[in-house]
Order: sequence, then structure tokens, then C-alpha cells
Amino acid sequence: MKSASATTAQNNLNRVFLGIGGNLGDRLGNLRCAVELIGKRIGRIEKVSSVYLSEPWGFTHAKYFTNIVAEVYTPFSADEVLTKAFEIETELKRTRSGNGYEGRTMDIDILFYNSEIINTERLAVPHPHICQRLFVLLPMAEIEPNFVHPQNGKEIDELTKICIDNGKIKKLSQKISF
Ligand code: ADP
Ligand code: MG
Repeated sequence: MKSASATTAQNNLNRVFLGIGGNLGDRLGNLRCAVELIGKRIGRIEKVSSVYLSEPWGFTHAKYFTNIVAEVYTPFSADEVLTKAFEIETELKRTRSGNGYEGRTMDIDILFYNSEIINTERLAVPHPHICQRLFVLLPMAEIEPNFVHPQNGKEIDELTKICIDNGKIKKLSQKISF
């Protein structure tokens, strides 16, 4: 059974922040499709950040990524959200070679799930690399700057300021409607 603190005041829905991005194919089109499918299958979308164009993180690839963060209210567990996110990635032609970081049409990561700390075989929440990635922190800071990271007690705004990430990143003018 879920404890009262595990869910938000919003009709017992869970507040989840998703990191959404990709670097292959029609990048903005894929972001638009992902947001539409997330709204239909995972939950009500409350906010979507601007789009950030960013250099591949942790590997070399000719194509930069486009990244957004979305705030979603969902009735599903974190595990169920991950399963649905995988299904959406597959529908958007994501393939996995299993060789670590690689180019992809779509990657949907669970950044935060309420303020819960989850460690299972398939899930680590908060996502373990949030603090090292400006392509997550900058869009997240745009939509929820005062959200407190449950593991280090710091607000997203502060994490953005102390983050050491030398990758190139730029905010684009195109918007993703929802
Ligand atoms: P990455 O997102 O790290 O580039 P993948 O999307 O291929 O790589 O995910 C690799 C694995 O990470 C998945 O099999 C998934 O089970 C696991 N994983 C662990 N925590 C999370 C999370 N918070 N959000 C999404 N996937 C996660
Ligand atoms: Mg992923």
C-alpha cells in the first residue's frame, strides 16, 4: 500500500518528471509525438520545458540531441511508467544494441517520481545522473526551479549553478505544445 506521502494532493496522482530526448531522425517531430503519447498513456501533462539542443553526453556522435523535461501527473507506479515509456520509445523506432550510450530516436527517463527514492533491478529514481547533466537541469529549472532533490536536499536552481558539465548546450525557440 502507498503511504500518504507517496502521492501528491492532486487526486492521489503521482507527480513525475520525465527527461525526453533523442538525436536521430526528425528530432522535434519525435519530441512532439512522445509528448502526445505520454499525455495519452501516462498521464496529464502539466508543463513542458523549452527544447535544448545539446552535445552527446558520455559518447561521441555527429548528431546533437534535442531534450525537454515534462511534468506529468500519473495514476501509475514508477515501474508502470517505465514500461509505458519503453513502449513509446519502441514505437518511435528506438533500437538498442546493448553497447552503452548510442544514438537514439527517443529516450524517456524517469527523473523524479514524487519525492521517492526507488532502487530496483530496472529502476533508479531519482535518475542517477541528474546532477551532472545540464541538458536535464536547465529544462527542469525552467519548469520547477525550487523542486528539492530528495537525495541531496538541494533545489534544482542551485544544482544548475554548481553543475560541472562542459557539453555545449543551447535553448531553441521552437516550442512543443501539449
Ligand atoms: P540511458 O537512458 O541510460 O541512455 P537506456 O534508456 O537504454 O539508457 O536505459 C538503460 C536502463 O536504465 C533501462 O533498462 C532501465 O531499466 C534503466 N533505468 C534505471 N533507472 C531509470 C530511470 N530512472 N529512468 C529510465 N530508465 C532507467
Ligand atoms: Mg533511458
